[in-house]
Amino acid sequence: MAMRDLSGDATLLSLNTATLGPARSLRDAVEGCLRHGIGGISPWRDKIADAGLSQAERMIKRAGLTVTGVCRGGMFPAADAQGRAKALAENRRAVDEAAALGAECLVLVVGGLPPGSKDIGDARRQVADGLAITLDYARSVHVRLAIEPLHPMYAADRACINTLAQSLDLCEKLGAGIGVAVDIYHVWWDPDLHAQIARGGADGRLYAYHVCDWLVPTRDVLTDRGMMGDGVVDLKGIRRGMEQAGFNGLCEVEIFSAATWWPKPIDEILNTMVARGKTCV
Ligand code: ZN
Repeated sequence: MAMRDLSGDATLLSLNTATLGPARSLRDAVEGCLRHGIGGISPWRDKIADAGLSQAERMIKRAGLTVTGVCRGGMFPAADAQGRAKALAENRRAVDEAAALGAECLVLVVGGLPPGSKDIGDARRQVADGLAITLDYARSVHVRLAIEPLHPMYAADRACINTLAQSLDLCEKLGAGIGVAVDIYHVWWDPDLHAQIARGGADGRLYAYHVCDWLVPTRDVLTDRGMMGDGVVDLKGIRRGMEQAGFNGLCEVEIFSAATWWPKPIDEILNTMVARGKTCV
């Protein structure tokens, strides 16, 4: 099967608002998408809150952008019942925002170890419980949940779900309405990557695809992601696997880059993103 041709235009790209950095607003992102012909957007919740949900909804709808995801829900494990209840309430609000924006999914960064804990097995059980409860609610409002497995270096503080296989095992237990966000930054190294992408496709669980690149050396594990083409990831090979598995959504560009990209003018970031989208993704 031939891969889709991204070289003609940018409508198959989606802008994750993190790519413009923390100082830019949702309006900056929406207007940037319009100027550069980018087809989709994936807003972080702090940007939605700053704009106001109904204003965000109007702005994105008027621009005709596909909402490839809302970032993010999750962070389920907590040290006590009160903390877990608080996390569940926050996830309900995140589901409601994804519903209001007509998002293709709510992206979930599931959370790591509660403070003081050394029991990652318990954290993973808490994640499974939190997912089950949130999924019940998400189904009732027709929002799909996408587990984003994070690179294992984040297992303690961000997500104790670290591979696609682990994510898809959970999805199988939980049933319909939950799938995965495949972010190349987190999974590119996995020797089982292509087999798990094929499995996710066969199960109809490939909900989102996030791209950037892995830089060598990486100077900061959180905020030194590379622009597509500047690192070592076989982006075309992974996209080919995604598309052969049936994924036909947008390629969402999510680049945390405090030193290199965030300080640049918005149009320089977006020009480069679109150019690299055409040649490197
Ligand atoms: Zn991501």
